[in-house]
Amino acid sequence: MSRDRFFENPFEDFCEDTACCVINCGQIKCDCKLACKLEEKWKNTLAQFKHLDFNDYSVYTGTAGIALLKLKKDDQSKQNLQEAKELLSLHRLRKKRHTFLCGDTGPLAIAAVIDYKLGNKTYMQCVQSIRAMEEDVLNINSDLANEYLYGRAGYLFAVLYVNKHISPPPFDENFVRKIIESILICGKNEAKAGNFKCPLMYQWHESYYLGAAHGLAGILYLLLQAKEYLTETELNTVIKPTIDYLDGMRFPSGNFPSSIGREQDKYVQWCHGAPGFLYLFSTAYKVFGNPKYLQIALDCGEVIWARGLLRKGYSICHGVAGNAYCFLELYQTTQDEKHLYRAIKFAEWCFDHNQSRVEHTPDRPLSLFEGVSGPMYLFLDLQQPMEAKFPGYTL
Ligand SMILES: [Zn+2]
Repeated sequence: MSRDRFFENPFEDFCEDTACCVINCGQIKCDCKLACKLEEKWKNTLAQFKHLDFNDYSVYTGTAGIALLKLKKDDQSKQNLQEAKELLSLHRLRKKRHTFLCGDTGPLAIAAVIDYKLGNKTYMQCVQSIRAMEEDVLNINSDLANEYLYGRAGYLFAVLYVNKHISPPPFDENFVRKIIESILICGKNEAKAGNFKCPLMYQWHESYYLGAAHGLAGILYLLLQAKEYLTETELNTVIKPTIDYLDGMRFPSGNFPSSIGREQDKYVQWCHGAPGFLYLFSTAYKVFGNPKYLQIALDCGEVIWARGLLRKGYSICHGVAGNAYCFLELYQTTQDEKHLYRAIKFAEWCFDHNQSRVEHTPDRPLSLFEGVSGPMYLFLDLQQPMEAKFPGYTL
């Protein structure tokens, strides 16, 4: 493992004495910096949004990500909902990309939910625009990949996001099934073509990626979140053996490779390595009930605690805030305050935004996935840790 990628963790680990400074009855303590300075931090963050680039409308690096942050702060007031909608720049959509994080379906899905909350029937227009992109998604011979950032899984997220937040769910079961079946058929074909000993495999840019953003762990995590649309047979004979196959690829440290053939135990960030796998295995435990999966998720948590204070910065995609989210996932799964404590410590590390700790300024310094909006989203989520959700990834 390469030590030049992360800072030595300076925090004392969880014990009753360390925890009582920041946690009270399973909640963040109100005199903790992350709670009592939250409003100040929010105002400072808002002040930075004066010069947004409206050409980038994506959730990942653009204005739709800022809209999601605004909705995290307040999804009730009419004025805030309207301000968030303006950030989506729907008139600029180029109908090119399909996914929630990097494509048109992110702004469209968020706009549908905002319109629905505002009581505007026009939300169905956004739903129809998402549906109108189905052709490449349902055609298994199209050029579309299956991975989360640029492929079918990212389209599926947008559909499920809309169905979760709008009642009755606008996308019918039959349509969701067709997307899932396309993902499964592509995975089976790739696994067969590459002679893999597992039912599903996916390529992106000629590599068999394994992590959350581009690989198998991200696709499987999303399929598990959509488990009500899967049959028992699919869960037990297709999804589960593929998860078990991934378990066999673990490094001795407990971390996971970013793609097949990459044997360097290097990345500990949401997009590549243990953090993305933690979400998969924690959810696999909840779906299948096998304690082995929980143990793998807990092992990922240890890797993140030891090696997750990244020199790369604070982002949720490949930085400390994304790693903090993993502890919240473990806290929600186990209710063990150790994980909440660890999430708070990682968040504190981000809270001060000490520039001397960041070695690369992100290209989009205000954005949700690479910039300051990600940590801000985390600070807001920490106020209700049992409800926290990795934005654009956990439904
Ligand atoms: Zn990343």
